Amino acid sequence: MKDTIHLNGIDYRWPQRPVVVVCIDGGDPAYIERGLRDGILPNVARFMREGFAAVADGVVPSFTCPNNISLITGAPPAIHGISGNYYLDAERRAVVMTGPELLRSRTILAEFADAGARVAAITAKDKLRRQLGKELDVARGNICFSSEKADCCTLAEHGIERVLERFGMPLPGMYSMELSLFVLEAGIRLLQSERPHLMYLSLTDFVQHKHAPGEPAADAFYRRLDDCFGRLDALGAVVALTADHGMSDKSRPDGEPNVVFLQDILDARFGAGATRVICPITDAFVRHHGALGGLVRVWCLDPGVAPAAVIDCARGVPGVAEALDRAAACARFDLPPDREGDVVVLAEANAVIGAGAVEHDLSALRDARLRSHGGPTEARVPFILNAPPDPRYAARAAAGLKSYQIFEFAINGCAGHA
Ligand code: ZN
Ligand code: ZN
Repeated sequence: MKDTIHLNGIDYRWPQRPVVVVCIDGGDPAYIERGLRDGILPNVARFMREGFAAVADGVVPSFTCPNNISLITGAPPAIHGISGNYYLDAERRAVVMTGPELLRSRTILAEFADAGARVAAITAKDKLRRQLGKELDVARGNICFSSEKADCCTLAEHGIERVLERFGMPLPGMYSMELSLFVLEAGIRLLQSERPHLMYLSLTDFVQHKHAPGEPAADAFYRRLDDCFGRLDALGAVVALTADHGMSDKSRPDGEPNVVFLQDILDARFGAGATRVICPITDAFVRHHGALGGLVRVWCLDPGVAPAAVIDCARGVPGVAEALDRAAACARFDLPPDREGDVVVLAEANAVIGAGAVEHDLSALRDARLRSHGGPTEARVPFILNAPPDPRYAARAAAGLKSYQIFEFAINGCAGHA
């Protein structure tokens, strides 16, 4: 067992007690603020009083994969390479970015596991699992599985088997709050039985896509989350809460989704096939957002169409906040240039940007106002610890926080050391 882990410029000390980092997917700070005001988050309120609380900067694009990977590597996408769910490679083929081979960094989880720690990572969405578990040696007692596929776990691939029987829970539905609660309940049971040194629990944003702070379904979910956080705390762990991104209302006053169909606009201006708009929010869970988010990437396929012309065209469109070329976007948001479009287009806080109208199925969005994320307006996230960080870390926090510092703060600042 080593006493220090080194990764991406950070030294992590060996924690004296278990550290549990929870990523509340879509956990906009507004849910915490509203829940505190309504008195439905007693455990979070206590953490904030006795431990630490701030609002931190997540990474842009404020999507699930880039932020989850930043949390477990302690680094921005320029280092780890995961900047969305999709990109176009040099041959202009759309590549899904969820494969572990595309992740360019080691993870804090794998580093600790290789040094002899027991590590568990549980995610709601199976698409994240292989990157979270990259190089995590499950043959040595480490665990990585998703609640989505909790019925298919094997010792060889996930480090755990018969999960439903073992934890006494049914397989949760893909579109349900139980998909997230299963992750936390499994984490609580593992903390009781195996007492891993390090746990990473990543939820899904199904509830936040559908329900604003204060709505009954959001309150019901946050009460259950708070109860789980209290039980993790009672088991003696350092509990660190953050989110991958926030969530904004993206509908017009009449309730219709406020969408810019950028591909249609660019096709009208430059001709069909001259440009390609990629929506990097797209994944198997499109039902809750129609693949509509606050940031898209544009590739110029016709050499006659310059990025500057696309930027000029996009900038005048209502609902578009900004259009940047590759170099400017990578510099501002710390992104990997080889996976960036020629142009990055960001939506206003109350709008989303899509490709062509025919490419988005909005029929599943009829039951609620569209809520989504992706741009800088959804990159502010909670950063809450159930124990006070030592004075050195408290001083550093005053200078501003990145959400991907949460493992460092929890491990080095709060967990105690020999
Ligand atoms: Zn997310
Ligand atoms: Zn989402």
